[in-house]
Amino acid sequence: MSFRARLTLAVALAVAVAVAGASAITYVLVRGELRGEVDDALRERVSSVRLRVVNDPSGNPFLDLPPTRFGGAEGITQLVTSEGSAIQSPAARVELPVTERARLTAAGKRGSFFANATVAGTHLRVYTLPVDRPGLALQIARPLDEVDAALERIRGLLVLIAAAGIALAAGLGLVVSRAVLAPVQRLTRAAEDVTETRDLSRRIDDDGSDELARLASTFNTMLAALEDSARAQRQLVSDASHELRTPLTSLRTNIEVLSRDVALPAGEREQLLRDVTEQLGEMTALIAELVELARGDQAPVEPEDVRLDLVTADAIERTRRNRPGVSFSAELEESPIRGVPATIERAISNLLDNAAKWSPVGGEVEVTVRDGEVTVRDHGPGIDEEDLPFVFDRFYRATVARSMPGSGLGLAIVRQVAEAHGGAVSAEAAQGGGTRLRLRLRPEPLKS
Ligand code: ATP
Ligand code: MG
Repeated sequence: MSFRARLTLAVALAVAVAVAGASAITYVLVRGELRGEVDDALRERVSSVRLRVVNDPSGNPFLDLPPTRFGGAEGITQLVTSEGSAIQSPAARVELPVTERARLTAAGKRGSFFANATVAGTHLRVYTLPVDRPGLALQIARPLDEVDAALERIRGLLVLIAAAGIALAAGLGLVVSRAVLAPVQRLTRAAEDVTETRDLSRRIDDDGSDELARLASTFNTMLAALEDSARAQRQLVSDASHELRTPLTSLRTNIEVLSRDVALPAGEREQLLRDVTEQLGEMTALIAELVELARGDQAPVEPEDVRLDLVTADAIERTRRNRPGVSFSAELEESPIRGVPATIERAISNLLDNAAKWSPVGGEVEVTVRDGEVTVRDHGPGIDEEDLPFVFDRFYRATVARSMPGSGLGLAIVRQVAEAHGGAVSAEAAQGGGTRLRLRLRPEPLKS
């Protein structure tokens, strides 16, 4: 059974119980009230009509009934003896049954009481009370026909009202459950939608402060977390391809040179082979790192004491080999920091690679290291004012850069590395043209 059906049923059932209870109470109260009226009428009759018990000529008591003024409903009257027999007026046509209790009242052992009896198919209310003659009690009865008819009508009405109430409750329950379950249904649809389309950017309305709004907001938080992790995964893949491209390119260049120029001077040949081996080693390390990252290995790489100036020198050396058309000048002060040398070198290489890429042929790239900060300045076209805020975004490339090779990931990786080290990276236009990029990392005090 669906939750909605169960909810409706529960509402209808609750209302049914309430309505049935209220009807039963109403019925009992009305019945008491109506019978009370009959009882009052009986009492009234006893007190208003002077009933006299007299003796007939043979000495037997009998009831001397004065005639009612308008005739009619004087009811049935009889005397009961303590032996349990009934004495009736000569005109009486029916005899009331004498109960044990009535006999006891006649014997003076019990007080007056009301009881119901059925005589000759008629439902009667019988009032039994002691009279001033010992050994006798008076019984006076009135038919309950009218009261019974009224009660029957009321019963019918109550059943009708209860049925209508329950039906109404079921209908309202259906409407209410629909309204109550609408947010749940929206949630379900959203979840199904996400499953179907794999679109994790979907969010659902979570206005309000009730439980369902909280559920919705929890759902949204979960979606956001999933989206983040999916994005991180995609980033990892794109970072991986970006990071692998650079060493692959230089590897390819070196191998091409080796295979083309068979008659290379021995020294140069050895240098190239050493480069190739080194690059292969770098790539192996990089791949191992990426595999580790992809495995979701949460253990962060332990930072170590790093000399930023030395790491920068290595990066310059590497870029120099890949970009022979550009010259590099370096002003490197001893600068100890804490960090992961491989990733820092990768970040600096990305800066140098950009500077070299945008430099005119034969241009110079100036690199300085001081107090945990690397500055790279080139004499290229510079970055347009409107592009400046975006160059660190993933995949962002200025319009003028679209014709150049690149994927727009280099500076995003630099920013990520800077932030991971508690630092920052910024770009600005250099005086006299070109671009200046600063990578700030947290400096460590110089050890003496
Ligand atoms: P990739 O580094 O992924 O191969 P890319 O160099 O285009 O590609 P980023 O290094 O992220 O990507 O640089 C982003 C954009 O910033 C570049 O496309 C270019 O428009 C601009 N830019 C970066 N460095 C310079 C620079 N030194 N001079 C001029 N523009 C630059
Ligand atoms: Mg780049």
